[in-house]
Amino acid sequence: MKHATLALLALAGSTPALAQHARPAAGAAVDPAVAKMRDAALSDDVAYDIVEGLTTEVGQRLAATEAEARARSWAVAKLKALGFRNVHIETYRMPVWLRGEEMAEVVAPFPQKLKLVALGNSGATPAAGLTAPLVVFKTYGELEAAPAGSLAGRIIYVGNAMEPTQDGSSYGSYGVARFVGPAVAASKGALAIVIRSVGTDHHRNPHTGVTDWSAGTTPIPAAALSVSDAALIERIAARGKPITLKLTLTPHFAGTGESGNVIAEVPGSDAKAGVVLVGGHLDSWDLATGAIDDASGVAITAAAAKRLLDGPKPRRTIRVVWFGAEEPGGFGGKEYARVHGGERHALAAESDFGADRVWRFETNLPATAAAIGDRLASALAPLGITRGTGVGGDGTDVGPTLALGVPAIDLNQDGTRYFDTHHTPDDTLDRIDPAQLRQNVAAWTTMLAIAANAPEELGPVTPRK
Ligand SMILES: [Zn+2]
Repeated sequence: MKHATLALLALAGSTPALAQHARPAAGAAVDPAVAKMRDAALSDDVAYDIVEGLTTEVGQRLAATEAEARARSWAVAKLKALGFRNVHIETYRMPVWLRGEEMAEVVAPFPQKLKLVALGNSGATPAAGLTAPLVVFKTYGELEAAPAGSLAGRIIYVGNAMEPTQDGSSYGSYGVARFVGPAVAASKGALAIVIRSVGTDHHRNPHTGVTDWSAGTTPIPAAALSVSDAALIERIAARGKPITLKLTLTPHFAGTGESGNVIAEVPGSDAKAGVVLVGGHLDSWDLATGAIDDASGVAITAAAAKRLLDGPKPRRTIRVVWFGAEEPGGFGGKEYARVHGGERHALAAESDFGADRVWRFETNLPATAAAIGDRLASALAPLGITRGTGVGGDGTDVGPTLALGVPAIDLNQDGTRYFDTHHTPDDTLDRIDPAQLRQNVAAWTTMLAIAANAPEELGPVTPRK
């Protein structure tokens, strides 16, 4: 509740005094050099330049395709031009999934066409489509409760009631319909599944996203209906007449392809102090240019690191990673931990929740470095950022590294409007608010200036559960 209250106040405007008042213990003095870097970053143009360039000159960046390879080349040129050191690509192989045709229509009782997109890793219908009775479940829980075998010969619909949340927590609770709903439906004999998009808009743009078959089920055709069309299906179902759906989805798995992580560094002066790892993911879904997911994350973290690059040499090396293939299953993050997990990491943090303002931070620091959190609280307060009470350590890309016991700092972005366009054709540059993007750069610059220079030891921690 405290989070929500502070968040609302923070949304209402600049609340530095309130933020400090909310945590009277955080009275650490702000280093004037840190404050100067923070305030200068509020005029940053590098982050916007990166998002604008990546979305204009590369466009969509589906994992393990030639488009993602072009994005890596673009990234190397950009990071070198910005002056980063040790700029290079580390490649790996992974499965490739490609979208095909996608169409759906209600055949009976009220014939009409629907807007939908295949989920990542969806199976395919026959090229001519598949026509079958539709079983409507309003929630994932109803699907879970359906008896084994009861869905044979049926197409399944699963709804959800996702509402916006500032911290994005509704994604976890309602996203399950997409993450594992298709595998559950397949295990009960379903021919195919359509879900209500995991989104908070009321438009006819469906939201894609990966679905997980790793439990061992054979992929069935799986798609997301636009939120508006999902509501239509539920209204038709409420009439009580049997529904027949025709579904055509022709994606395919195209063997293995090459993906990769792009790495760049700001060299530090003390090699024994450990690396500070920051970044976001370079790949995107194929429906749009991935401006908020996640061109903005790679841009924010690189722009902040660039400010350290241009200042006095930091104590710790800052390693910026633009991870590959996050969307289909965090391949780049796993590969990074496999290759670099044995190196000493002092900290890991990622930006992958859009481009709206940072409103809260949370940490997972060793007790010997708790003062870093206090200094962050004081230095971030003028940006309207409050200190959360949870344990930090979020993120698909840094997750495998954090799991090794690396300390974490999360700079939480406001997610209130993130799921309006997440994974839709509307994830485009015009969703970026330059002022909020700059506030992100200022927050990350502040965090890096404090963490990369901290005299405290940043030894291992117990990873967040
Ligand atoms: Zn993302």
